[in-house]
Amino acid sequence: MISPKERLLWYEEELNLLYSYPIDELVSVIQDVGFSCDYCGRCCTSVFNGHVFLLDDEVSSARALCADAVIPAPGFEFCDREGTFYVSGYALRTDAAGNCIFLSDNRCSVYGKRFSICRIYPYMLHREPEEDGTFTFRQISGLNLHGSYNHEISEEQARKSAEDTVAYEEAFLHHMISFCSSIIALFSVENRRHVQRSYDMRYRDFMSGKPVVVRVFYHDEFVPVTVTRKDYAGILPPSH
Ligand code: SF4
Repeated sequence: MISPKERLLWYEEELNLLYSYPIDELVSVIQDVGFSCDYCGRCCTSVFNGHVFLLDDEVSSARALCADAVIPAPGFEFCDREGTFYVSGYALRTDAAGNCIFLSDNRCSVYGKRFSICRIYPYMLHREPEEDGTFTFRQISGLNLHGSYNHEISEEQARKSAEDTVAYEEAFLHHMISFCSSIIALFSVENRRHVQRSYDMRYRDFMSGKPVVVRVFYHDEFVPVTVTRKDYAGILPPSH
């Protein structure tokens, strides 16, 4: 697992790359691919997309729609020697089958109020490492696995989607940079550090059903939340 400092450098580098990414290229990709949603509903399931990460301002909106809508994002990033996990934010809860709690009959029940990542989907700008150590940016999620293609998309519409995508990715990277900087500061002030052995042992406890404490980064604070594996029933693989 990479350290908070290494993560910070990774996200800072990615933000700089995002700033230099030619938006016209994304506009072209969006027009060339011509994606159209065919309402299969797959993108709103954990099987297809893991989890839906929320930016801080969206957490309160999600809770206003459903008090129990969010959980600490899965894939807790760090763990201290006492076995407390640290995670960068909240994600939408799913049902036991892995469907977003707002998915109903393959439709988003909160469509007009859906979250920024849902709005830009399937567009994205994430760099993906190649085997030779270089990287390329990925612009479309789940290409050829959902939706239909080769539809006409106007230049204006494609540019709006591209700008929204860049804005989301920028906000996400700022959030992650803030998380990494804050955890470096917190660990220094509280004389803590990430301990991989504690992480592994505590994660085994968590996977066996025991409650664990996760400090969730939210509005520049680390909020302690107790969770069990049941909270992640539709996201984590079933227990045997
Ligand atoms: S909020 Fe709506 S669009 Fe977003 S993942 Fe849930 S069901 Fe899908």
